[in-house]
Amino acid sequence: LPPEQRLGFAIVGLGRLALEEIMPAFAECKLAKPTALVSGDAAKANQVAQQYGIKPQNVYNYQNYDNLRNNPDVDVIYIVLPNSMHREYTVRGAKAGKHILCEKPMATTVEDAQQMIDACKQANRKLMIAYRCQYEPHHRAMIQTIRSKELGTVKLIQADNGQNQGGDLNQWRLKRALAGGGSLPDVGIYCLNATRYLTGEEPIEISAQTFSTPGDPRFKEVEESVTFQMRFPSGVLAICSTSYGFHEARRFRVFGSDAWGQLDPAFSYNGLRMMISRKSPTNSMAENISEVRLSEKNQFALEIDHMADCVIGNKQPHTPGEEGLQDQKLIALIYQAAQTGKTITL
Ligand code: NDP
Repeated sequence: LPPEQRLGFAIVGLGRLALEEIMPAFAECKLAKPTALVSGDAAKANQVAQQYGIKPQNVYNYQNYDNLRNNPDVDVIYIVLPNSMHREYTVRGAKAGKHILCEKPMATTVEDAQQMIDACKQANRKLMIAYRCQYEPHHRAMIQTIRSKELGTVKLIQADNGQNQGGDLNQWRLKRALAGGGSLPDVGIYCLNATRYLTGEEPIEISAQTFSTPGDPRFKEVEESVTFQMRFPSGVLAICSTSYGFHEARRFRVFGSDAWGQLDPAFSYNGLRMMISRKSPTNSMAENISEVRLSEKNQFALEIDHMADCVIGNKQPHTPGEEGLQDQKLIALIYQAAQTGKTITL
């Protein structure tokens, strides 16, 4: 679409993700453009507005946010705030008559996630959770590879996503009330979500463990590491790990009866690599590993354009509120399984 016909997005919360990834990604969007900013820091917001050619009168704060209702430049609100704030700004945004694109994790509780769905339904607005990987070509190719039975029957998925979390001890990610948890809702959610879109199934059994290094000041309120195992109806098993304590690792491998396929890295913003290992035609003991090369696309641009396309064509987003709610429910069950030491059957 020519720029004047593209849908207008208001970006709420000008933190690291918004400034370093989302604002630049609009340059690669074909259906969307940034038209408003919402921030608690007026000086920063005015500077960002100037940088991206956003009208000075389209800079809002958290108090006058609801006035977006009267702004025809804005079709969609993209919420990039700390996790616990997603509910309030989704509900207020929907009441202001705007469609909502909300960052992951959807919320910090199942109740909040449900309220967000209800508010958008009531206002007849679309709600999409920003699961960028589900719009990314390597992930889509792996789903296709699995569905076409190229790996044979999938038996097991192993997924790991973590980082050695640095930065300020006062950051919201280390506060339970703002983050809802530690590594699990922040980065472990990518493993959880991947097992669901790779299998196309919902888990029926969950067991889990958590561990936080005693005395590490980062983990006074939130957990450091989580391992969780799941069983899916077809018999696929998943083994997942996440941590705020180990050096960056973001990968998964899908083990099938005839072959395995992996993305490593899988959950990074760029540099994703897809490998397939099949039986060697000449040597039954040798692995025949090949790389599937795909051109790199900006995941944020793909995700934003998908939301715009759904609004323009009145379609249900591929990752609607219900997708976020399901992960929110499973995160709660993973914590419950870890706390009780019991396998949970769904
Ligand atoms: P940051 O801490 O960098 O930014 C959050 C912004 O929210 C702040 O800059 C601030 O913006 C605003 N804010 C309002 N109230 C508060 C508060 N009480 N404490 C802290 N910030 C506040 O976080 P991120 O950008 O890393 O994360 C934001 C969201 O995006 C989270 O939900 C996170 O899970 C998600 N995320 C998703 C990623 C992905 O790959 N999809 C990657 C990284 C994050 P201002 O100064 O403008 O008011």
